[in-house]
Amino acid sequence: MQIPFHRPYMTDDEVQAASRAILNGWLTMGEISFKFENDFRQKVGSSHAVAVNSCTAALHLALCAINLEADDEVIIPADTFTATGEVITYFKAKPVIADIEKDTHNISIKSIEEKITPRTRAIIPVHFSGQPCDMDEIMSIAEKHKLKVIEDAAHAFPARYKNRNVGTIGDITAFSFYATKTITAGEGGMITTENEEWAQRMKMLRLHGISKDAWKRYSAEGTYVYDVIEPGFKYNPTDISSAIASVQLSKSDEMNDRRLQITQRYIEAFRNNDAFIPYVVKPDRETCWHLYPLRLNPEALSISRDEFMIKLKQKGIVTSVHFIPLYRFTWYKNQGWDAADFANSEWVFEREISLPIYPSLTDEEVDYVIENVIEIAAQNLRIGSPAR
Ligand SMILES: *Cc1c(COP(=O)(O)O)cnc(C)c1O
Repeated sequence: MQIPFHRPYMTDDEVQAASRAILNGWLTMGEISFKFENDFRQKVGSSHAVAVNSCTAALHLALCAINLEADDEVIIPADTFTATGEVITYFKAKPVIADIEKDTHNISIKSIEEKITPRTRAIIPVHFSGQPCDMDEIMSIAEKHKLKVIEDAAHAFPARYKNRNVGTIGDITAFSFYATKTITAGEGGMITTENEEWAQRMKMLRLHGISKDAWKRYSAEGTYVYDVIEPGFKYNPTDISSAIASVQLSKSDEMNDRRLQITQRYIEAFRNNDAFIPYVVKPDRETCWHLYPLRLNPEALSISRDEFMIKLKQKGIVTSVHFIPLYRFTWYKNQGWDAADFANSEWVFEREISLPIYPSLTDEEVDYVIENVIEIAAQNLRIGSPAR
């Protein structure tokens, strides 16, 4: 059996919606994008939403909205994709890397507190695998030190924290519709916020900083006249991508239910097995399980994380690792970040394997993954380990 790490859940509905968008004579950002933007806003329950062409663009515009400046510092977790840190450098500001919690892989509150300096302007918590971070604690640290909170929710649609949807908690939230994410248009992103002024500015900046209705300057009701308010960016979605994303949004509950079913099977299959260390979801929050982190116990196993992944690949099962911690990359290392200062991130990195988890994974495929994970573990137990 061949099981890819990810397989987007696309049906004829997405094909039909994209075809209509291709043939309707518009193609770029227009009515379909604005409808998607509004539907997403309603689903999350935020006051404003701004559709863009990636989560990276969403994070960049969020930092524009809070007027990040050169030499400012922004605190981010070690266990994230480089986009979270990269956008900070666009301003010649400094990404400050905090350690994570072992249990959840989310940013550690203690580490945030240790990293705050007079230059700190913002925190970007990342909701790892869709599990919301400790938002109450993060918001109160932010209030105390007058910081802004921009949530990297690339994994976290849909997700809930103490009965509140992610997208309505921090100052600004950024979502991703990249090919592997919980809903996708190939590429795409969304910003939500309660702040109307910021929303208007981000809408302007996503299309070159030109005035409000300039997107329809080529239509019958439009006009060639527009103004440039400030230099912006080319971050608008297209109506083709928004048409696909709209269909995905309409199926998102169904897709989420299927990921939760698969998760339940994985959790039950791997519990009470000394070869694995369960990933913990805190009781007051709901995750969408964008990722399923299997955590190996090196005390019970005679093979490394990488060797375990190779054995799975030999069985046709493709897995991944989320993430290579940022401080391990050349650029971040050159800024002085050192693995020795990130005990929990290193602990997680040594153990984590992301298993395939997506709605189109069949029950037979889930069985096959489970059987092989358990068999590889059983065949590679350390002599004298408690699991033997
Ligand atoms: C995927 C991802 C991003 C970037 O999303 P794009 O839409 O590809 O720009 C940012 N942060 C995290 C944590 C991600 O996983």
